[in-house]
Formats: sequence, C-alpha cells, structure tokens
Amino acid sequence: MMTIRPRLGSIMITERLSMGSRSSFGTGGEAEYYTEPRTVEECLSALELAYRKGLPVTIIGSGTHLLVSEEGIPGLVISSMGMRGITIKGDLLEASPGETLDNVINQAIDHNLIGLEEIAGIPGTIAGAISVNAQANGRSISDVFFYADYLTLSGEMHRRPCYHEYFTKQNSIFSPDEFIISIALRLQPSKASAEARVRKEKYVELMFIPPCRRFSGEIFRDTEGMSAADAIRSAGLTGPSGFRAEFSEYQPNSIFTYPGCTPSEIYTLILRAEREVKEKLGIELERSITVLGSFRDLS
Ligand SMILES: Cc1cc2nc3c(=O)[nH]c(=O)nc-3n(C[C@H](O)[C@H](O)[C@H](O)COP(=O)(O)OP(=O)(O)OC[C@H]3O[C@@H](n4cnc5c(N)ncnc54)[C@H](O)[C@@H]3O)c2cc1C
Repeated sequence: MMTIRPRLGSIMITERLSMGSRSSFGTGGEAEYYTEPRTVEECLSALELAYRKGLPVTIIGSGTHLLVSEEGIPGLVISSMGMRGITIKGDLLEASPGETLDNVINQAIDHNLIGLEEIAGIPGTIAGAISVNAQANGRSISDVFFYADYLTLSGEMHRRPCYHEYFTKQNSIFSPDEFIISIALRLQPSKASAEARVRKEKYVELMFIPPCRRFSGEIFRDTEGMSAADAIRSAGLTGPSGFRAEFSEYQPNSIFTYPGCTPSEIYTLILRAEREVKEKLGIELERSITVLGSFRDLS
C-alpha cells in the first residue's frame, strides 16, 4: 500500500491487488494499481494521478458483474465501493455510488418510500445497478431513476437526468469512461412500509444463492425475439461443459463455477455460447457482464 499525494489531496493506492478478492467469481489477476476513494475530492485525485502517469482507468463497483482475466487489469482500477451516504428529501433519495442496493432499499422503506422491493436481493452497489440497469421480477432500477452526477476521466462533473427512453432492458445510459458519483431516485411515498418490508424479504429469498457456490448474474442481455436464457437452453448449452464452469440448468443465463475454475474457462464458455447460439438460432447474443483484460480462448 502506498499513499500518493497528487495536487488535489492524498489518496491510498494499492499496487498489484488481486482482483479475485474483488469479483464474485473469486478469480482474476491483479489490478496494476487499485484505489477506493471515499469522497469526490479523492476521486478527482485518483483521476489526476492516472492522467499524470498516463495510466488507463477502469471504474468498478463491488465486482458482482465482472469477469477479470488471469493477466489482470493494467493501469488504475477505481472502485466506488468506499463512497457511502444516503440523504432523503420528500420522495427523492440521493445515494453515494458505493451504497449497497440492499441498504438503499432498506433506507427507503424506513422513510416510507417504496418502489424498489422487486429488485431486492441483487448484490452490488447502487452505481453498479444504475450502470447495468439492474432488473429483476419485472422491475428495473431505471423505473425510479431521477438523475445521476458523474465525472468524466478528465475530471469534469456532469448531471444526467432521467431520460427513460435511453435506458433499455439491462442496458445503461453511462459509458465505461463516466464515473457515477451520486444517484437520485424518485420513489413512491407510502404508509405501507411493513408490507413493503415483507415484500422485500420475499424477493431476497427468491434470489438466495448458497454461499458455497460461485454464481454470476445474467451473462447476456435478452434479445428482441427470445430471452437469453431460452436461447442458451435451446442451443443445448446448459450443464457440464468440459470446463470448471457451466451455464446453470436452473438459470440458463447464469454461470456457476467449480473450485479452481480460471477466468479463461469462463470466457471460453461465453465465447462458445455466442458462437453456438449464432450458428444454431441465428441470434447475436450481447454481453451484459463486463469483461476486463485479455483472455485465452481454450476452445
Ligand atoms: C448471484 C448474483 C445474482 C445476480 N442477480 C442479478 C439480477 O437478478 N439482476 C441484475 O440486473 N443483476 C444481477 N446480478 C449482477 C449484479 O449484481 C448487478 O449488475 C449489480 O448491480 C452490479 O453492481 P456492482 O457494484 O457489483 O458492479 P460491478 O460488478 O463492480 O460493475 C458492473 C458494471 O458497473 C460499472 N460501474 C460500477 N460502479 C460504477 C460507477 N461508480 N460509475 C460508473 N460505472 C460503474 C462497471 O464499470 C461495470 O461495467 C447478479 C449477480 C450475482 C453475483
């Protein structure tokens, strides 16, 4: 660990951090440099440092929807996990990017605001949820999105308001070089907070994954004509794959892994699905999961 003092203030940077500890797959090489700023000033310091050293920047949340290669990630990885805080005014909930979705939902219900219960149980941060437009049980985070503030990699701050039509299912209105630093959600006032809490817990239970398993979220976006899950099942891709990773019989658009699985095994399985779904069904699958680094195709 080293402390670097760019012009804007000090920031802790870890060199060569194993990304296995920062990804739900529990696998992946090292980030050349890694930092978890706690404030916007620290974000600006991190971006300034990357600029001065000519380092590429990768922005992540808590790593529940990332596949990192064995070779790791060159440059500076900035995780917004350390940026916490929620304020509520009327029906508007404003959250820092590193707040967990779970905490945002709990705080909302505590303040008699509902509308997020259906997506309860999705792991990860609120910024990660906005970035991928997290959805479950017919509800998307974009349904309640009001605006978000973000930094460009050159350190300019902007606000993006809720143009819902730009959000598509599991898709986002943010690009990889936009660092979300604050999110505002417009929720529904309700006195029925006890019912909302019960509803939330029901959805959390539905999402339960045994901790002994390494499970991913949805790997591909649904296509116009067919869900990605149906496409993967129809192409006969679920179950044993010859790798220590397989598409789940139960949730065909998710991958679970066995101990010792490498990132390239998972990556090769993703390539296989893309190739075989195209060949057998004529459908081009589009990735929802973020893939970082260079991989080997083990086919
Ligand atoms: C068991 C399991 C079940 C899941 N179920 C669901 C589900 O039902 N529905 C669903 O939608 N998802 C699901 N997911 C996927 C995942 O939990 C969500 O996509 C989550 O919102 C990602 O949040 P994160 O903080 O972990 O983001 P990360 O995985 O760290 O990053 C995901 C993407 O968000 C971007 N990002 C993160 N933070 C920022 C930021 N501050 N600024 C800009 N970009 C940022 C990253 O660049 C990356 O592209 C599941 C995952 C797992 C492991």
